Amino acid sequence: MVFSCEVEAVPLPQTQEAIGIDLGTNPHFLVTSEGEMVEAPRYFQKAQAKLASAQRSLSRKKRGSNRRRQARRRVAKLHRKIANQRKDFHHKIARRLVNKYGTIVHEDLNVIGLARTRLAKGVLDAGWGQFLAILAYKAEEAGRRVVGVDPKHTSQDCPVCGYREKRPLWVREYTCPQCGAHQHRDVAAATNILARSGRAPDRRWARTEPAGMGTAWAVP
Ligand SMILES: [Zn+2]
Repeated sequence: MVFSCEVEAVPLPQTQEAIGIDLGTNPHFLVTSEGEMVEAPRYFQKAQAKLASAQRSLSRKKRGSNRRRQARRRVAKLHRKIANQRKDFHHKIARRLVNKYGTIVHEDLNVIGLARTRLAKGVLDAGWGQFLAILAYKAEEAGRRVVGVDPKHTSQDCPVCGYREKRPLWVREYTCPQCGAHQHRDVAAATNILARSGRAPDRRWARTEPAGMGTAWAVP
């Protein structure tokens, strides 16, 4: 069992520090413009494997039997456990970011077209919608700013000189052919995301926390 409990709602002391975050799936849940990499916790995968085995076991039980009922309860319990672990992880990461930074800039998941790109599966797997909603309400409580920006080309542009180049997904690091800057792909993307906040409109986020994983985050 994982319990998440928040009691404080006191605005934090002001800070001018701003950070860009690039959301990923594997191996990183997110990478910041300062080069910090937050790994996706391994217990997600472990729990998923257990769930798959519990589901197989359920499918073999006879309908209406006691054993089937037990197997169904086991599957439901594992689902709850995974959801709770994920939520707890999201709370911790959001808390860390909100404590440290006055402005947090991320990719706007509502931008049309994003769902068709590399992110399609990741959005569901990593529960980014839930994470961003948690981040938004923690930020609001603390008097911090959270900004969503158009992510187009943020993973292709050199953050130093702006040179645009398409690279295959397996390229983690590269040297810009125009200015020679050596870049980590995701840190470069996070830096571009941060840079875009200057042009992005400030948003007011809904305060309510969604109930389930991957629930849509509301922009009133
Ligand atoms: Zn460059």
